[in-house]
Amino acid sequence: MDCLFCSIIKGDIPSTKVYEDETVYAFKDINPMAPVHVLIIPKVHLSSINDVTPENSAVIAHIYEVAAKLAKELGICESGYRVVSNCGKDAGQTVFHLHFHLLGGKALKVEMC
Ligand code: AMP
Ligand code: ZN
Repeated sequence: MDCLFCSIIKGDIPSTKVYEDETVYAFKDINPMAPVHVLIIPKVHLSSINDVTPENSAVIAHIYEVAAKLAKELGICESGYRVVSNCGKDAGQTVFHLHFHLLGGKALKVEMC
């Protein structure tokens, strides 16, 4: 399967790794929208939130644990941050391997839609 983020996990495409364990990989977004902009992804290929099921949802809870850990390490846990996952066309999803944006380091715009 041809997937950009699967290729990044495999190391076939370079990335700036921030964190890795058995089930999760995190790396700097190539086009940062904030001083801290990290993408946290499951190693298993899920296309979007639509693919989350009771069988695979444990990795989502783990991604939030990793987000909290990275927010602390990157110095934004007190100032605040946002974790966002875009799903599908109307949300502007461009890469169809489930990912969570960790954004912080400045006052983020308060726009839900
Ligand atoms: P989304 O629009 O929610 O699907 O987010 C996809 C994100 O992937 C965007 O913020 C892109 O800047 C980012 N992105 C695309 N290609 C790469 C890459 N090779 N390395 C790091 N981030 C990337
Ligand atoms: Zn993938």
